[in-house]
Amino acid sequence: MTVGIIFHGIGTPKRALEQDEAPYWISEDQFCRVLDMIAALPDPNQIRISFDDSNISDIEVGLPELTARGLVADFFVLTGRIGQAGSLDASDIVTLQNQGMTIGSHGVDHMNWSTLPADKLHHELTASRATLEQICGQTVATAGIPFGGYNAAVLKALRQTGYTCAYSSDCGTMDPNAFLRPRASVQGKMSDADFRALIAGHLSIKRRMRRFIGMTRKRLT
Ligand SMILES: [Zn+2]
Repeated sequence: MTVGIIFHGIGTPKRALEQDEAPYWISEDQFCRVLDMIAALPDPNQIRISFDDSNISDIEVGLPELTARGLVADFFVLTGRIGQAGSLDASDIVTLQNQGMTIGSHGVDHMNWSTLPADKLHHELTASRATLEQICGQTVATAGIPFGGYNAAVLKALRQTGYTCAYSSDCGTMDPNAFLRPRASVQGKMSDADFRALIAGHLSIKRRMRRFIGMTRKRLT
């Protein structure tokens, strides 16, 4: 069993936040407590850790705390923000890769892919990937879907543009070999008990039903 969790920002944001973004920022202390819980598991690799939005805290806090615990993570980069204040620059991305982290695409402009016309979606998927491949000097084939916004057309476009897997925000557990891999977001309001439940992939029966129905609908329509 694998559980995917998403970190966004850690500590104090160094850029203007988007609407409804603040709840996804956590303190450095919360971040370290979650990593300690993961590192203490019999098999820490059963947790697939990811970072979305390419905030500068990925490299300032995320990388050193991960490496101190022997953990690795996927970093999903918004290429339209590379080098902007508060966001990773190209050399940060190379540093992450050189430290054993995986670099993937979060698109160019932080759009909900399920709402985009086909040409704009194609641009988000291909331009971001091309930029990252140029920086990384190797194939980039993973995507973190912004806002968990996908449908059948998004999954098809991801496959057609060469992605080998896509990480969503459907919570619960994932099949680590599937194309679509659900994850759950860590939020600032969460308690340690919430963190433990998240890492365990626990969902109530009601939420499990809603997840099943929601994922089925999004995959097919
Ligand atoms: Zn995002």
